[in-house]
Amino acid sequence: MTKPRAACLIGWPAAHSRSPLIHHYWLRTLGIEGGYNIEAVPPEGFAEFVLHLSAHGFVGANVTIPHKERALALSMPDQRARAVGAANTLWYEGNELRSTNTDIEGFIDNLDACAPGWDAIEEALVLGAGGASRAVVFGLLERGIKRVHLTNRTIDRARALADQFGADVHPVAWEAIDDLLPRAGLLVNATSLGMHGQPALQLDVSLLPSLAVVVDLVYVPLETPLLAAARRRGLKTADGLGMLLHQAVRGFDLWFGRRPEVTPALRALVEADLTKD
Ligand code: NAP
Repeated sequence: MTKPRAACLIGWPAAHSRSPLIHHYWLRTLGIEGGYNIEAVPPEGFAEFVLHLSAHGFVGANVTIPHKERALALSMPDQRARAVGAANTLWYEGNELRSTNTDIEGFIDNLDACAPGWDAIEEALVLGAGGASRAVVFGLLERGIKRVHLTNRTIDRARALADQFGADVHPVAWEAIDDLLPRAGLLVNATSLGMHGQPALQLDVSLLPSLAVVVDLVYVPLETPLLAAARRRGLKTADGLGMLLHQAVRGFDLWFGRRPEVTPALRALVEADLTKD
């Protein structure tokens, strides 16, 4: 008898993740006999665990804080993981441990689902210059967006990111946001502002063009003050939960051989979990 395939989430701590809820839902609804475990692994045990992932019983894994950079270094990353500087998904090709970063397709696929045709825009404005912002910028450039304005509280981080991605990315001072909003067909919050326990993002959405699309990567709370203001103005929006669900698709496909769908029922399940406390 062959053992069912299993993947896991490796983090430290790892207990708060919604990934098990998502993958168990897909396993159940697709009728696949498989597993998805939580593995709380401290930094000092990470290399041993990952380098012997298969011996630990897993065909692949998601990786979360604080291990994403180590995961990149310990595996054979694709171009996406290298561009973001962090890996969040591991799988085997033969005996080789491969890695990617699925935040890029999570961001883009969610936008396609929520605001079809969004990529007709000329200019985008991205706030933030951390790991999430790198995934966003990579996705926008890959999709052919010609001008990405990038701003960050610490401008040097925005400059470094622009240097990495080339001439289509323009670093701008945080104070210049109001000047850029009227030109931004797409506005993306890739900072942690607006997250539960953090200050709100103070920004005047009335300055945006009337057809602008607003994206917030934050998903706790589900409706951030930025998204609420954008919706009140009648703008199209895409939220962080949508991105979280879409970024999980590729890993499931790699581990279990079926491409799952992000459905309203899955969204409702995770939404209920996020709002239960
Ligand atoms: P990170 O690397 O820690 O970057 C945090 C970013 O927020 C930096 O640009 C930082 O600016 C900025 N920031 C923090 N506090 C600020 C403040 N008071 N004023 C202005 N800017 C501030 O984090 P990350 O991994 O990129 O994640 C960013 C956000 O995206 C988080 O809320 C995370 O939960 C969310 N996220 C969501 C998904 C999803 O699937 N929905 C995926 C990944 C990330 P400085 O450089 O100046 O510190």
